[in-house]
Amino acid sequence: MHILHSTLGLNSNKTLTDIWFQYVLRNYKSPRFIITTFGVLLTSYIFFPSSLLAVSHKPSKRPDKYTCGFKNSGNDCFANSTLQSLSSLDTLYLYLAEMLSFQMPPGYTIYPLPLHTSLYHMLTLLREPIYFKKTLDVWEVLRILETIHRGKIGRNQHDAHELYVFIIQTLEDEYDRYFQDLKRSQLTSSIPTFPFFGVVTSSLRCIDCGGRGNLVKYPMLMVELNVGNQNDLNKMWRGSWNDIIEDYSCLGCVVKRIILNRDRLNLNGQQEKCYQLLKEKLTSGSLSINDDLIEDPVYTSIITSYPFLKSSSKVVKEIKYSKKPYIIPIHLSRSVYLDSQMWRNGASIIYPEAIEVEHVKYTLKSMIRHQGSHSAGHYECYRHKPAFCKVNGEYRIGKFKGSKKLSSASNKPYWRISDSHVSECTSDSVLNDGKAAYILVYEQEVDNTL
Ligand SMILES: [Zn+2]
Repeated sequence: MHILHSTLGLNSNKTLTDIWFQYVLRNYKSPRFIITTFGVLLTSYIFFPSSLLAVSHKPSKRPDKYTCGFKNSGNDCFANSTLQSLSSLDTLYLYLAEMLSFQMPPGYTIYPLPLHTSLYHMLTLLREPIYFKKTLDVWEVLRILETIHRGKIGRNQHDAHELYVFIIQTLEDEYDRYFQDLKRSQLTSSIPTFPFFGVVTSSLRCIDCGGRGNLVKYPMLMVELNVGNQNDLNKMWRGSWNDIIEDYSCLGCVVKRIILNRDRLNLNGQQEKCYQLLKEKLTSGSLSINDDLIEDPVYTSIITSYPFLKSSSKVVKEIKYSKKPYIIPIHLSRSVYLDSQMWRNGASIIYPEAIEVEHVKYTLKSMIRHQGSHSAGHYECYRHKPAFCKVNGEYRIGKFKGSKKLSSASNKPYWRISDSHVSECTSDSVLNDGKAAYILVYEQEVDNTL
């Protein structure tokens, strides 16, 4: 003790804590200090393991201080963040519960739902209020995924985006198979809605000739946006879904040119027939600028013989939801291919806590952040806390009559989760982390009384 006192320069006016802080501030960089501190901690842990563990297992009186973390037994942060992000989604959890309690009408085959079952179990643990620090193992779900796909999930291929898509697609496959017989018999009224399922319609309009293209409908489970010059999420999304295509080979413009130049063309019988068909479609207003006829060999032969007929038109492409999903995950693709190498675009993205998608309000439920290079780095998840409240002195989740919102959950509505480490954070700290933003997950507002 004498040595310690003299080293610290103990005098009667200062408390031992003050002096200890000063000593740490002066010496924290010195190798001797680091080695000594490490030695003391190691010795304490060997002889008194419970005393150190007790510090990290301090219980909380409120239910929103902690949530379960995940252990990291290698490069697991990509999966840990993905599962944390999924656990923030009320509609997903409700859907899983509905699926697992679905009463299949008699006479129909009941197909297994291994990923639904495993995910429901894991999300139940993650969503449960806890008062002590607790750590789970993400491999309980990953092993199920490996069994379903009869393969191994490479720890080296640790991309949270790939895993996110993989999980959603596997869930959708199980869902489709589960209801394939019911859908065939059109007994679809009681089937739960797959919360990620959205359908978009893509349309084309030629600025030069005013012609329109066939509407193309396709499912969309995740919105993919490239991080480029634009850094505002709304503008990026609008820009990507409302694109102007230059140099488009527009069938409407070509047919108009053929009509104008008809006298200069020497068409054979088949080509003449094709021309008449196109002309008729144009005059009747049924010609689509991306009609399948573009692929027709007779049509191609006309264009090849008379290259001046080729068009390079300006076309507006517009994508819209024809069926909006409950959950919209947005992947901010930051990969840039430059100098025969992949790089990460580290631009800071601006995103709000609430977005409106075609008159429907969605709120930010989680954000997966990625820090590092294109090929290596660390993933963490910002996860929105559930709607904690106090009813008659008891903590509950949801909205109840006469309930009071928990002030700590209003001040710090998110958890920042790095594997097993969980800390509380404000909305600002989530919104100001735009440089690391990688996957943003928005969810339609629902009554979250569970
Ligand atoms: Zn055109």
